[in-house]
Amino acid sequence: MDQALQDDLRRRLEAERETERERLEAAEPIEQDKDLHDIARGEAGQSQAAENTRQRSERLGTIDHTESRLSKVEHALERMDEGSYGICEVCGDAIGEDRLRAYPLATRCVEDAEDDAQPGGTA
Ligand SMILES: [Zn+2]
Repeated sequence: MDQALQDDLRRRLEAERETERERLEAAEPIEQDKDLHDIARGEAGQSQAAENTRQRSERLGTIDHTESRLSKVEHALERMDEGSYGICEVCGDAIGEDRLRAYPLATRCVEDAEDDAQPGGTA
């Protein structure tokens, strides 16, 4: 694939990796101890504890999502280092520059892409 395009995509992936890492740091889970402290304060504390629980599961969702995104970004960068970036993992054909420009994380060509979106697939 075109070296200039790959350099451009690498910069985009590296910028994304940075963003996802910052998001992970910002999404540190709320400590469990805080709930006990709040509950001890009575009724108001209990609704605070419920709010903490809600926020915690929201953050865990963010962390899960961000970690899986981050691992895809790192995987794409590893493939660049190995020289296999832009090659479909399933059939070995070129993924296509248009597709990579639109979706730099693509590891499969358009024909094989359907399973790509499914979490926990065999990829
Ligand atoms: Zn393919």
